[in-house]
Amino acid sequence: MAILSVEGVRQAYQTPVGETVALEDITFSMERGDFCSLVGPSGCGKSTLLSIIAGTLTPTAGRVLVEGQEVTGPNPRIGYMLQQDNLLEWRTVRQNVLFGLEIRHALTPAAVERADRLLETYGLAEFAHSRPSQLSGGMRQRAALIRTLAVGADILLLDEAFSALDYQTRMEVTEDVYRIIRQERVTALMVTHDIPESISMGDRVLILSPRPAVVRRQLPIAFDLPDRSPLRCRSLPAFASYYDTIWKELGMHETDETHGAPLGGAGAVPAAE
Ligand code: ADP
Ligand code: MG
Repeated sequence: MAILSVEGVRQAYQTPVGETVALEDITFSMERGDFCSLVGPSGCGKSTLLSIIAGTLTPTAGRVLVEGQEVTGPNPRIGYMLQQDNLLEWRTVRQNVLFGLEIRHALTPAAVERADRLLETYGLAEFAHSRPSQLSGGMRQRAALIRTLAVGADILLLDEAFSALDYQTRMEVTEDVYRIIRQERVTALMVTHDIPESISMGDRVLILSPRPAVVRRQLPIAFDLPDRSPLRCRSLPAFASYYDTIWKELGMHETDETHGAPLGGAGAVPAAE
C-alpha cells in the first residue's frame, strides 16, 4: 500500500476580490522510502499542497491518505523542514532535539535513547550541550532534521529548505540530509525552485503546471551509480539531460501562459554555480 496518496486535491482560496484556485486536481502517490521532488512556477500552489498533506489546511476537494487513513489534522508521522530551522536559542542542541517529544508528552526512555542515537549517528553528539548559535548552518539543519525524526516522523515535507544557505553550505547540507533520509528510510517530498537540486536528490520529479496547478509530468530519475549521492550524480551526462527535460517542460508553459521566468530566481539558470 502507498504510504502517501494524494487524490484529486483541489484548493480554492476565498479572497475579498474573488476566488484564487491554487490547486486544480493533484493526484500522485508515494511508496515508503521514495524521494520525490516537486517543482513548479512560483505561486502555483506548492506550499499549499504541503500544508494540505501536513493536515494544517483542509482541501476544498479531494483527500490525502497516509497508509490508507485520511489525513484530517496534524500527524506526528509527518514532519516539516523549512528554510528557518526554528531552533530555540535558549536551549541546547539536545534540548532542542527533545523539544518535540516534550510538547507531545512523549519523552519516554526509549524515545530519548533514540534521539541520542540520532545525535550520535549523525555527528552531533559532541555538540549536544552547545547552543544552536555555536553550530554551523549545516549542523543547524541537521539538528532540525533530527528533532523532526525524534518524534517519529517517517514522512518528511521539505519546503525550499536549503534556499537560504550559501552555495557551499547548501551542497554539504543536501549531502547530509540525503544520507539521513535514506538511512532512516524516510519518505520525502521536497519542494524546490532549484532544478539541479530536484534532480540530484529525487527518485522522481513532479512537475506542476502554473496555477491552478495540475501534475504536468512525473519524471523518474535514475543514475547508474552504485552509491548515489546528490553531489556525485551532478557530473553524470544523464544529469544534464534531465535538466533539459525539466527546463523545457517548465519553459513550455511560459509560452502558453502569461508567466515570467518558469521558476524565477537564480536556481532556474542552467548550471549557474
Ligand atoms: P508556491 O508555494 O507554489 O509559490 P503557494 O502555495 O504559496 O505557492 O500559493 C499559491 C497561490 O495561492 C498563490 O497565488 C497565493 O497568492 C495563493 N494563496 C496562498 N495562501 C493563500 C491564502 N491564505 N489566502 C489566499 N490566497 C492564498
Ligand atoms: Mg512556496
